[in-house]
Amino acid sequence: MKLFASAAEMRAIPRSAEFRNGGVSFWYREPGLPERRPALPGSADYDVCVVGGGYTGLWSAYYLKKAQPDLRVAILEREFSGFGASGRNGGWLSAEFAGSRERLADAHGKGAVIALQRAMMASVDEVISTAEAEGIDADIVKGGVRMVATNPAQRARLDAEVRYLQEWGYWPEDLYMIEHGHEPRLQVDGAVLASHSPHAARLQPAKLALGLAAAVERLGVDIFEDTAVTEIRPREGEQRPAAVTENGEVRADYVIRATEGFTSTLQGERRAWLPMNSSMIVTEPLSDDMWKHIGWGGHEVLGDAAHAYFYAQRTADGRIAIGGRGVPYRFGSRQDDHGRTPPQAIAELWRVLARLFPIASDVPVAHAWSGVLGVPRDWCPTVHLDTETGVGWAGGYVGSGVTASNLAGRTLRDLVLGAPTDLTRLPWVGRRVRGWEPEPLRWVGTQVVYGLYRTADRRESDRVGHTSRFAGLASRIAGR
Ligand SMILES: Cc1cc2nc3c(=O)[nH]c(=O)nc-3n(C[C@H](O)[C@H](O)[C@H](O)COP(=O)(O)OP(=O)(O)OC[C@H]3O[C@@H](n4cnc5c(N)ncnc54)[C@H](O)[C@@H]3O)c2cc1C
Repeated sequence: MKLFASAAEMRAIPRSAEFRNGGVSFWYREPGLPERRPALPGSADYDVCVVGGGYTGLWSAYYLKKAQPDLRVAILEREFSGFGASGRNGGWLSAEFAGSRERLADAHGKGAVIALQRAMMASVDEVISTAEAEGIDADIVKGGVRMVATNPAQRARLDAEVRYLQEWGYWPEDLYMIEHGHEPRLQVDGAVLASHSPHAARLQPAKLALGLAAAVERLGVDIFEDTAVTEIRPREGEQRPAAVTENGEVRADYVIRATEGFTSTLQGERRAWLPMNSSMIVTEPLSDDMWKHIGWGGHEVLGDAAHAYFYAQRTADGRIAIGGRGVPYRFGSRQDDHGRTPPQAIAELWRVLARLFPIASDVPVAHAWSGVLGVPRDWCPTVHLDTETGVGWAGGYVGSGVTASNLAGRTLRDLVLGAPTDLTRLPWVGRRVRGWEPEPLRWVGTQVVYGLYRTADRRESDRVGHTSRFAGLASRIAGR
């Protein structure tokens, strides 16, 4: 990506009169930003205290309370529930799992990794059925995921990826290549090959977060918003673990950290997970004629096999929402600015949109926004509960957290309730990962890695038939 979009490039991007940049995300335009729940009034005592009201925190509280209704559970949220990535994402409820399968298999065996993949697939259906049972209308359509290759190198990589995943828990009916003209039709310009997996659904992320928060509250969980936790203190002797806020401390038997991309703001966690940015744009609704041309009647979520990949969905009201890495990392783990997105990221996403759907290139962009996700040093998510310190956490989903956070929530429930289950035996449970390097290494490393990935994409688009060596180098530097 060029560091700066020229003024002419920015002018070339059609924008609607109501264009907005940030304001958390487009997904809050229709339901509106929620009224905030009252803040923590003072020190308090609970059985379980969850820090962070995104999907991870909400699902954890939901399943704990469902399993044991008399458990006293509180959620402490700095802004409002759904403020983070959970209210901003691309709405891919997919079985994708980030992280090296080989690394997990080294420690736990291949069977355990396959069990994790199957659990991810089951979690897609678990989210859908729970949303239905709780009366949450999040525009969910289970149309699967379509991945496209737009040059020979991507084609070779997509083909290899499908064969690879079929060895790691995807059976042939779970993931396969599709022929040109496959129904339902989805016309992506320049696509030379595509794969399909039925294990994914399109959803409206903020509606899921808002609905889930309401469901959790109905179950009797206390949600305190506008309540920033500054530190999580582990158990010390007789002193139970605590979440420390300006308004007082919440002591509990267990404190669960569910702050994902924001984790580095907590005392002692600066280098735990790298806050990586991801940015999105959404168009105004396309005309019926445009939709006739494009198809996309199956509402599949859509992505590609580039290194700096995109992810997209057709929204319930007929827009295209498309995202990618944008400006991936800001110096010193600098944090979110309510979703405001740099012009160069908007320009880059629009160029991708116009390349894939030229017929939609005159449709004005309605909104741009960004969010942060958490990246562990080994790019592999974790769920953990330390019974000695009483502190647990889940996250580091590296951009695939919509489904994984549900599985994490159910796993944390089982860990807190103390009974070993199939979920607590999954290989992402209980892993310890070293922290990131100090600055400026962290910033330089991320710039180099994403620079190399983009160079690799450019070289591959020149129709070299194989994956560029720059991508391999980037992955080695990144430690993926
Ligand atoms: C633009 C974008 C697109 C994405 N697209 C997809 C996708 O399509 N599919 C997919 O699977 N994943 C996607 N992801 C990733 C996915 O959204 C996240 O992995 C997931 O939402 C993480 O949920 P969470 O609850 O762990 O974190 P979050 O949703 O970030 O929630 C953390 C919460 O903690 C609160 N908090 C932070 N610090 C404190 C504190 N000190 N005290 C109290 N509260 C605090 C925050 O305000 C926030 O509400 C995307 C992410 C982004 C940013």
